[in-house]
Amino acid sequence: MGVRYVDIKDAEVRRDDAVVVGSGFAGAVVARELAERAGRRVLVIEKRPHIGGNMYDEADEAGVLVHRYGPHIFHTNDKRAFDYVRRFTGWRDYSHKVLADWYGTYLPVPFNKTSMEIAFGGEKAARLTAKLVQAFGDERKVTLNELRAQDDSDLAEVADFVYQNVFLRYTQKQWGLTPEEVDPSVTARVPVFISRDDRYFQDAYQGMPAEGYTPLFERMLDHENVSVCLNTEAESVFDLEFESDAEDAPLSGIRLRDVLLEGPIVYTGPLDELFLSRFGRLPYRSLDFVYETHDVDYKLPCGTVNYTVTEDYTRITEFKYLTGQVCPKTTIMKEYSRPYEDPKTQTPYYAIVSDENEAHYGRYRALTESLPNFHPLGRLAEYRYYNMDVIVGRALALADRLVRE
Ligand code: FAD
Ligand code: UDP
Repeated sequence: MGVRYVDIKDAEVRRDDAVVVGSGFAGAVVARELAERAGRRVLVIEKRPHIGGNMYDEADEAGVLVHRYGPHIFHTNDKRAFDYVRRFTGWRDYSHKVLADWYGTYLPVPFNKTSMEIAFGGEKAARLTAKLVQAFGDERKVTLNELRAQDDSDLAEVADFVYQNVFLRYTQKQWGLTPEEVDPSVTARVPVFISRDDRYFQDAYQGMPAEGYTPLFERMLDHENVSVCLNTEAESVFDLEFESDAEDAPLSGIRLRDVLLEGPIVYTGPLDELFLSRFGRLPYRSLDFVYETHDVDYKLPCGTVNYTVTEDYTRITEFKYLTGQVCPKTTIMKEYSRPYEDPKTQTPYYAIVSDENEAHYGRYRALTESLPNFHPLGRLAEYRYYNMDVIVGRALALADRLVRE
């Protein structure tokens, strides 16, 4: 059958319909679940010209399947989330590998026993690794901050090396901040791993949708109760009603094409944009992606190379490693991190986790709490640094609640 695309002008809106803003994992999973399990009519409103959120992929001019909003590898320990996404597509086993380009020499990331040998030489690495095992245990993951807190000169040497050569410049490029200045949860995503395991993730389930993410989303949203309006910004079609004219007056209702919505409204875009940034814009980091196609089978030694000590870009990804595509040419992509300054031309990719930003976000969130059928969900609407699997899990949990209502 295929996805039912409608123009917002022609969409028939009923007051008990569900309305979902955004068609990434947060929006698409809830839309599917409400359509299928609750028998709701669901209208999905998406501002981009396509579905799939950040996961959107397509063939480029050379026929190479590329990701348009950053490289996406699915990995999780949440079996329900993994089983859910597998419902809609075949799956390809793939364990992502990352190397740091350290002045032309490659070090495995997360920094591990092999990286130790390359950095320090066999004999010294053996001694330092023994110290790490003694302090933390074998096959253990240690965050940069835990390592830096150790009171031992050998461990301090390892910590200093990892800080200077893996984290400092990359974090400055990515966030415009030093590792000390970012929230500890950010650098903790990539620990030091006292192991020979050179996979980027150790989750029980990891892989890639066999035909790409876009067909996965097409199947997820292919349901007789679901309609999708592309090229439509929620704020341009929603009429928000407030309890008073005060700046911090909470929401009392949302109308869409004159219909007061009484069914669930699941909003997965940035919350500040919905309220036209009345308390100032929430800070995000954005990215520029620069693609290069080469007339060779493969260009890099693995899926991603991180530039931790040189270059202005943070990392380069070669999609064919991720997708397993067989193709005579290859396309690589460089990522340049930028402050998010212009919503018209830039995309908000990363919430910047800090107490101050959380408080700022809380002011927007408070506007929504008075409206019981309004549900902010997802990496943007919740202003969180969530991976895909967490979003799928949270979307399923919200759908469980809404289906029971
Ligand atoms: P999104 O995918 O961002 O979807 C939100 C949708 O809402 C978008 O389609 C947007 O256009 C639409 N929208 C926003 N505002 C409005 C509006 N006002 N009106 C209408 N529509 C609107 N996670 C992993 O698990 N593995 C990875 O390898 C990985 N790599 C990543 C790489 C990068 C560079 C980035 C930035 C993120 C990565 N992630 C990864 C995280 C992943 O992108 C998110 O977890 C996922 O996108 C969250 O889904 P979502 O639906 O919440 O948001
Ligand atoms: N990081 C780093 N060097 C690396 C890899 C990661 O400094 O080689 C830090 C950096 O601050 C980054 C964070 O760890 O933003 C999280 O890295 P991850 O690869 O999880 O980032 P994502 O894929 O979400 O962009």
